[in-house]
Amino acid sequence: MVIVMKPGSDKSQIEEVSKVLESLGLGVHISKGTERTIIGVIGDKRVLSNVPLELMPGVEKLVPIVESYKLASRTFKPESSIVEVNGVKIGGKQIVMMAGPCAVESREQIIEAAKAVKKCGAQFLRGGAFKPRTSPYAFQGMEEEGLKLLKEAKEETGLLIISEVTSEKAIEIADRYVDMFQIGARNAQNFHLLREIGRSRKPVLFKRGPSITIEEWLNAAEYIMSEGNYNVVLCERGIRTFETATRNTLDISAVPVVKSMSHLPIIVDPSHAVGKYQYVLPLSKAAIAAGADGLIIEVHPNPRCALSDAAQQLTPEDFRSLCRDISKIAEIVGREYEYCEQ
Ligand code: PEP
Ligand code: MN
Repeated sequence: MVIVMKPGSDKSQIEEVSKVLESLGLGVHISKGTERTIIGVIGDKRVLSNVPLELMPGVEKLVPIVESYKLASRTFKPESSIVEVNGVKIGGKQIVMMAGPCAVESREQIIEAAKAVKKCGAQFLRGGAFKPRTSPYAFQGMEEEGLKLLKEAKEETGLLIISEVTSEKAIEIADRYVDMFQIGARNAQNFHLLREIGRSRKPVLFKRGPSITIEEWLNAAEYIMSEGNYNVVLCERGIRTFETATRNTLDISAVPVVKSMSHLPIIVDPSHAVGKYQYVLPLSKAAIAAGADGLIIEVHPNPRCALSDAAQQLTPEDFRSLCRDISKIAEIVGREYEYCEQ
């Protein structure tokens, strides 16, 4: 349920309502819009059956949240959220670019990739250290060694670090090295892992599962948020359809649909969606045009020799022209991307 306060209701009225809710053991989440303040209520509403909240000073109306996800819904928080990761805002005017190889493979590879993406305006370096591979015999990632190399790349370039975590142990280890956790598509409905990451307060990039609906995805995000971690950024990365020409099918409509259903920022991963580097540029442009808050792109100094996802990683040169185009599209849709050629 949300409590909509009247325009002009004052601080003491909002505090009074919050006090009543908290005294009954309910969670309170206040969102201040330009006109109205909305108080989101979390917990078992039955305790409110004899409390005439609608009669309290400053209260306009009580609105039930019909969606099964609450904290993630736009009814609960009408204004869009901005998730801040060590100084970088995701969901604001600035388009956020996360880029780097599929996996960390060596010091030379990750430092070279970091320098290349930094030059094009990226704010984050991506690189998998715990790799959830389709085959158990394929390269599984460098684990903590890889995270250490990511940290070196951060020290060298100032880029923020994002890397995937696949287990509780991986969360514990990665917490020492990364600025943002990534939950991959394969774990999108691993509810135990989602609760675990929800107990951290570190921002999470939460990818959509290849076979889940938007509603299921938002319910899964709710698992993270219900544990108290509201720093969730969604990432559309393609879904499984009957089409085989591309690795997955990028659900571009998920961008405006999610924006209408949820206040959470959403970025797009065209690399895993299509699986072929040739299609990454047009879909990146489409994603930003559709309203995405950023992109996560696989870039490798020598893609054809990559130990994973060789077919979809961009060369630094191709990434440079992508960034140049993105800065133009961003401007057209009222956003900004600072591409600085050096
Ligand atoms: C990745 O980003 O490295 C990855 C494995 O992506 P996804 O979880 O979307 O398949
Ligand atoms: Mn990959």
